[in-house]
Parts: sequence; C-alpha cells; structure tokens
Amino acid sequence: MLDVLVIGAGPAALSIATELGARGLAVAGLAPSDPTAPWTNTYGIWAEEVDSLGLGHLLSHRWSDTVSYFGPGEPSTGDPDPRSPDPESPEPEGQATGGSSSEGLIRHGRTYGLFDKAALQGHWLERCTQTDVRWHQGQAVAIRHDTTTSTVSTATGEPFSARLVVDATGHEPIFVRRGGDGPVAGQAAYGIVGRFSADPITPGQFVFMDYRPDHLSEAERQEAPTFLYAMDLGEGLFFVEETSLSLAPPVPFPTLQARLQRRLAHRGVAVREVVHEEFCLFPMNPPLPDLRQRVVGFGGAGGMVHPASGYMVGSLLRRAPDLAAAIATSLEAGLRGQELAEAAWAGLWSPELRWKHAFFRFGLEKLMRFDEARLRHHFHTFFQLPVAQWTGFLTNTLAPRDLLAAMVQLYGQAPWDVRWGLMGLQGREGTLLAKMLIGP
Ligand SMILES: Cc1cc2nc3c(=O)[nH]c(=O)nc-3n(C[C@H](O)[C@H](O)[C@H](O)COP(=O)(O)OP(=O)(O)OC[C@H]3O[C@@H](n4cnc5c(N)ncnc54)[C@H](O)[C@@H]3O)c2cc1C
Repeated sequence: MLDVLVIGAGPAALSIATELGARGLAVAGLAPSDPTAPWTNTYGIWAEEVDSLGLGHLLSHRWSDTVSYFGPGEPSTGDPDPRSPDPESPEPEGQATGGSSSEGLIRHGRTYGLFDKAALQGHWLERCTQTDVRWHQGQAVAIRHDTTTSTVSTATGEPFSARLVVDATGHEPIFVRRGGDGPVAGQAAYGIVGRFSADPITPGQFVFMDYRPDHLSEAERQEAPTFLYAMDLGEGLFFVEETSLSLAPPVPFPTLQARLQRRLAHRGVAVREVVHEEFCLFPMNPPLPDLRQRVVGFGGAGGMVHPASGYMVGSLLRRAPDLAAAIATSLEAGLRGQELAEAAWAGLWSPELRWKHAFFRFGLEKLMRFDEARLRHHFHTFFQLPVAQWTGFLTNTLAPRDLLAAMVQLYGQAPWDVRWGLMGLQGREGTLLAKMLIGP
C-alpha cells in the first residue's frame, strides 16, 4: 500500500514527491509522460528566493542590472495633495532609480534569475530516486474512495491505491474540485527567444516590466495594458515577452504578438531568428479549492499561483516541506481517509495564507480596472516601496500586518489617480472584500 500517490510530473508534482519521499513515506508518481521529459515553460524568479533556500546553483542566468519602465507621469485626475509624490520625482532612500522622466525608469537593485529547467527537474528527480519514489506512466481518469484508501484508474484501466492522493496536474486539475465566484482572469504572454537586428534591451539587463506606451496610439492606450518582460540570455540571444498581467477574458495571443512586434519596431528592432516561442496562459485568481475535499491539490491544482503576480515556483520550494510534514505527521498519528485529507489541506493552507490569498485576489480585481496610465502610476509607486515590502509582496512572504503596512504606505505615496482607483468598490470587489474580512 502506498502512503501517497502524486499525480503529475510538473514542478509541483516533483517538489512534493521529493519532500514526501524525504520523510520516509511510500510514494509513487503517475503522469502521461516520462518525468524526465523536458519542461517547456520559462521559469524566472527573484534570485534571493532560491539563494535563501541554498538552491542558487539551479539558476542558469542571473542579472544584477534589473529595471522596469513605467513611462511618463501624468496622474489622470490631477493631484490636489502637494505631499503626494510625482512619479517623475527622485526616488526615496534605498531605491536606486533614474532615467528620463518619459521613461519612468526604476532600478530594482535586486538580482533576478532564470531557472535551468533541466537542473531543477534533475534536482528533484535525483532526490526522488534516493528515497525510492517510483514513477509510473499513465493518464489518471477516475478516482474512487473508501474510508481509508483512494484508488486512481488510468486511461488504460490500471489501478493505483494509496492512503492519500495529491493532485498536481496543474491549473485545470483532474480531480481537485474548484468552486467559482465569477470570471477567472488569466495571465497571458507571447514570447520569443531569438536573435534580433539590434539589441532589444540594454545588453546584460533584465527588464521586469516595461510598461512604456510610446508605441501605442491613443485608441490603443484605451485597450488592455500590456508590458514587456525581457532578458539578455547572452551570446546575442534575448528573450522578449509581451505580457498581460491579468484579465478576464485573457488578452488573445495574436494581440500580444502584434503588440510585441510594434514595440520592437518602434525601437528599430526586427526579429532575425526565432529559436523558441512561448505561449503562456494560466489562471490568476480562481477561488481556493474546497479544503474539505478528499483529494489534496498542490501547485496550480492547489490554488498556489500568487493571484497578484502570477509567481508560483518559489512557493513550491517553500511550501512543499510544510505539506509533506503535515501528511507525514498525520499518517503517523493514524489519521486516514477524510481526516487525513483535511489535515493535509490545513498544512498547505494556513489561515494566514488563506487571508493573504483573499487579499491578493481583492487587490488584483482593483488593478484589472485601472486604465493604462493609472496602472503605470500604480507600479511606479509600488516599486518605490522599501525593497523588503515589494519583494515580500511579490513572493508572498510578508506577514499579514506587514502586507497591510506596505499597502498603507503605497496609498500614502501614490498619486491621486491611483488613490481614487483604490477607493470605492465596483463589480465584485465588495464580494471579494467581504471574503477577505469574514472568510469564504
Ligand atoms: C508559459 C508559462 C510560464 C510561466 N512562468 C513562470 C515563472 O517564470 N515563474 C513562476 O513562478 N511561475 C510561472 N508560471 C506559472 C506556474 O509556475 C506554471 O504554470 C507551473 O508549470 C505550474 O506547475 P504545476 O506542476 O502545478 O503544473 P504543470 O507544470 O502544468 O504540470 C502538470 C503535470 O500534470 C500532468 N497531468 C495533467 N493531467 C494529468 C492526468 N490526467 N494524469 C496524470 N498526469 C496529468 C502533466 O502531464 C504535467 O506533468 C508559468 C506558467 C506558464 C504557462
């Protein structure tokens, strides 16, 4: 009898299988393809997140020159408050910024990294092998539960029984049930790894968000805002990706592709060679899954995408040990069936993390209503917060009271158009606020 069957072979499955195996549990993985099959997504992360876990060697690239551009400052409702900073003004202490006012340049002063996907995958698989985690090939299609055991069947009818099933099949999970409370917004991006007629960004640089709108007509500026995320990969290779932070329905790929071409052309850059294309789309803000269900989710299936930034890999690395510990302790205490599943969910989603999830969903809902100028002003202010605040926000590592303090500070520093945007409740913001205050 297996203790845990992990379904999937993406980052979430490998990370949780690794941690479960390390606790001496009998673990197997089930996925349609070989777990060593190369992953296609590009995974980036603020380097501190991996360095603090002692895993910095899993990055293939690191950039210390990390910047964003938020374009010209033009608060859309005027600024009656002389204390509120102009987005073009010099930056506060601890924040190295500069550049011309039309660029709205922010120097982040923090190192960003790109995962070596093969190394990350190998890191987890090697540890799985050491702890005898077995991988099986098959597509899970059905599940049935009795009081102590769950049995998963594959498309070919092969059964796998375990005390607990962890569904790590991504953003559209096969078994984890997710409720709904309105349209789910998607982060969409179209990217190219390639060679260009001229450098698309400053050599050696990482561009986190280039929201400059100078290549767009007035009419296009009324449409959904998108930004450039870009990396110099060295030896003449660059990754450039036009990204929509979040929208429901998501910005279509042809729009992103056309925007990327326009942005590059405006800077006099033509694509010479496409080495790889990335079509990125994943849900940002679905509600958390029902935490009383019998199958436990992890990764996309467990609702772990940061609803305000879209990041998840750092959370997998930090939170897999918590879930694995909750499962191991509960099994040892003799919990089985429903009780075991609920204890596992509680280990993954503490009340604090649930509250922050609700907070980020509410915040994202507001940002999705901002027009492009207001969104630029918002981010320009956000990245002038103290580094610990904005990095803690993006990585979801701030305690709730520190998160609230950061938001109060943001409000205090923001120009009036952003403040107005943050006030008042529209659409389902009231519902999301209520969920944040009193729970789902
Ligand atoms: C293009 C792209 C780029 C991204 N970039 C970043 C980034 O830079 N940083 C970041 O933190 N996050 C990023 N994300 C968000 C998130 O981290 C990824 O989506 C991540 O891959 C999710 O991991 P996962 O393991 O939950 O799901 P997936 O990676 O989707 O893996 C799901 C696994 O389940 C398997 N599976 C599916 N159905 C079944 C079934 N029925 N039976 C058995 N197995 C099944 C699949 O074969 C696969 O192995 C990105 C997402 C995308 C789409």
